[in-house]
Amino acid sequence: NILIEQTDPELFAAIQAENARQEHHIELIASENYASPAVMAAQGTQLTNKYAEGYPGKRYYGGCEYVDVAEQLAIDRVKQLFGADAANVQPHCGASANEAVFLAFLKPGDTIMGMSLAEGGHLTHGMPLNMSGKWFNVVSYGLDKNEAIDYDAMEAKAREHKPKLIVAGASAYSLRIDFERFARIAKEIGAIFMVDMAHYAGLIAAGVYPNPVPFADVVTSTTHKSLRGPRGGIILMKAEHEKAINSAIFPGLQGGPLMHVIAAKAVAFKEALTPEFKVYQQQVVKNAQIVAETLTQRGLRIVSGRTESHVMLVDLRAKGITGKEAEAVLGQAHMTINKNAIPNDPEKPMVTSGVRIGTPAMTTRGFKDEEARLTANLIADVLDNPRDPANIEAVRAKVNALTARFPVYK
Ligand code: PLP
Repeated sequence: NILIEQTDPELFAAIQAENARQEHHIELIASENYASPAVMAAQGTQLTNKYAEGYPGKRYYGGCEYVDVAEQLAIDRVKQLFGADAANVQPHCGASANEAVFLAFLKPGDTIMGMSLAEGGHLTHGMPLNMSGKWFNVVSYGLDKNEAIDYDAMEAKAREHKPKLIVAGASAYSLRIDFERFARIAKEIGAIFMVDMAHYAGLIAAGVYPNPVPFADVVTSTTHKSLRGPRGGIILMKAEHEKAINSAIFPGLQGGPLMHVIAAKAVAFKEALTPEFKVYQQQVVKNAQIVAETLTQRGLRIVSGRTESHVMLVDLRAKGITGKEAEAVLGQAHMTINKNAIPNDPEKPMVTSGVRIGTPAMTTRGFKDEEARLTANLIADVLDNPRDPANIEAVRAKVNALTARFPVYK
């Protein structure tokens, strides 16, 4: 950090301010986490200097013998972590992992089926403005009247439209997904079954959420959400798909892999294989349940009625506040969340009637039952009286006292 300060004081000031923000705010964005110092250190190494197009042992550049070791460690560890036949650790992010799967199995104009963005899916699963929505004919499935995935309707649509590929996975869905049921219908209609486990990956690694790997042809993920690694992507696959996926990533979609990030992935996978990581993920789920129960007691509605994971959507309408306003006032009280549409949301996507709350980051900094309950009560305190500056200030003081007791990077 001294080097950055000397070379670029302007940038250094921004980094310092962001570091302070991460320490002082309660981070409740469900897709964020705090990577370990070892994960961050791996990304700041000389591996950033190396070109290594290709795969371990089969590169298009000389001098790859040591980065080969790093990539092979990442591959072996992630296969062990999830019980996968084969793995590609080169995707630069979750979106490029998904694009590579489409490139491997589909042609423009083919039909795909994914969960609708409005009901919890991700934009790479067929949203009209995303490549997936522009290049493919998209059939979406959604939720039933209880706000659980409508599996019957999904199966009926699959039989009617015969998509070439079915995606399961979500960005804002709190319940367990029945991957086996998706796999059965995909098999029946001869579709490739892809799971995007980006949100749930850490929970799955620890055995606290169903593992899709036994059921899916390919499983994509990010490495930076609940899995708590560096920003990046991975693809796990059945052995028969390894060749197609590897050539879709390189030379299909990407050039040189980010070897420093792959090294950091190796560190994160090693951390995720430890017993401590399992205990951490159990607490992530417990904290989410405590937050959901407490918010319910304080008069808010949890979409789908409950959470069985790290994430929940909160319907704010009972408090007469939009997602946009809630995001702003909670931010003023030093709690970072994102506005999120709820199913059948009457508000526009930039306004929304809901917020999404996740517990991976707060749990990493050491929050347990008591702190999770306090956090939920502080959220409700803001939402009960969101336009009173004195109230916001009082809550902010309590948040600052709490975060000071749980420093992230000591
Ligand atoms: N897939 C899911 C389910 C996600 O929630 C996200 C990110 O929010 C992505 C993919 C995309 O990941 P990235 O932002 O790394 O491209």
